[in-house]
Amino acid sequence: MSGKTVLVTGSSRGIGRAIALQFAQQGYRVAVNYYDNPDAAPELNQENLQQAQQVLKEIEAAGSSGMVVGADVSKSAAAQEMVDKIIKEFGQIDVLVNNVGINKDQLLLRISDDEWESLISTNLSSAFYCSRAAVKHMIRKRYGRIINISSVVGVSGNAGQVHYAASKSGLLGLTFSIAKEYGVRGITANVIAPGFIESDMTAGFSPEQRSKMLNGIAVGRLGTPEDVASVAVFLASPGASYISGQLIRVDGGLSSL
Ligand code: NAP
Repeated sequence: MSGKTVLVTGSSRGIGRAIALQFAQQGYRVAVNYYDNPDAAPELNQENLQQAQQVLKEIEAAGSSGMVVGADVSKSAAAQEMVDKIIKEFGQIDVLVNNVGINKDQLLLRISDDEWESLISTNLSSAFYCSRAAVKHMIRKRYGRIINISSVVGVSGNAGQVHYAASKSGLLGLTFSIAKEYGVRGITANVIAPGFIESDMTAGFSPEQRSKMLNGIAVGRLGTPEDVASVAVFLASPGASYISGQLIRVDGGLSSL
C-alpha cells in the first residue's frame, strides 16, 4: 500500500497509536493527530505533541513516513484545517480512521448539558467533520476507506453510559449512510465495535470490575489495541474492497455469550 495516506484521529496513544503503527508497517504514510486543545494548559498540549512525535518516530523506525498534526477534532474548523494541512503535505487522504473518543460514566439523571454536548461533539460530530472534509478529496480520486471506531456499547447500550452509548450508536448510522451515499464513488465505510480493550480508558477498573468483565468474554482476556488495529488495517486492504456498511465487533466473543 506504499504511497497511500491514512489519517488516524487521536493517535498519540491507545488504540489510535496501535492503528497508526500497524498502517505504517503496511507502508502507509500516516498522519498522526493529537489533541491540541485550545482550552487546555499549554503543558498538556505540549505533552500530547511529544507523544505524537514519539509515534511518528516509531512510524519512521518501521520504514514509513508521516506527519504530526494537532487539532481538536470536536470542532468543525479545526477538523477542516487538519485535513487541509494533510492534503497540502501528502496530496491525498486514502484512509480515514475516526478513532477519537472519550467517556465519562454518569447516570442519566446526573448528566449535565455540557457533558452531553462534550461527549456527542467529541465522539460523533468529530467523525462527521473529518469524514465530510476527507470524502471531498476521496471522491476526486474515486477511492477512499472510512473506518469508524464505535463500541459494543453503541450496539447494546449500557447503564451509566447514556451519552457515550448514544454517541457510539450515532457512528453506526453515520457509517452505514456514508457507505450507501459514496459506494459508487469507490468509497467504503465500516465501523468497528471494540469490547473491553487494555488502554488508559480501562486502566481505572478495580480488580472486581475486571474479573466481572472477564467472566463475560468468551476468549477469557481483555483485547489489546493491536487486536483492534489489525481489523482496521484489514478493512483498508484490497481483500476487504467488497466489505462496506458493516459493523465488525472486536470483543473476544462478549456479544455472543
Ligand atoms: P484513549 O486511550 O483515551 O485515547 C483517546 C485518544 O483520543 C487520546 O489520544 C486523546 O487525546 C484523543 N482525543 C480525545 N479527544 C480529542 C479531540 N477532541 N481531538 C483530538 N484528539 C482527541 O482511548 P482508547 O481506549 O484508545 O479508545 C480509542 C477509541 O476506541 C475511542 O473512540 C473509544 O471510545 C473506543 N473504544 C475503546 C474501548 C476500550 O476498552 N479502550 C472500548 C470500546 C471502544 P488525549 O491524550 O489528550 O486525551
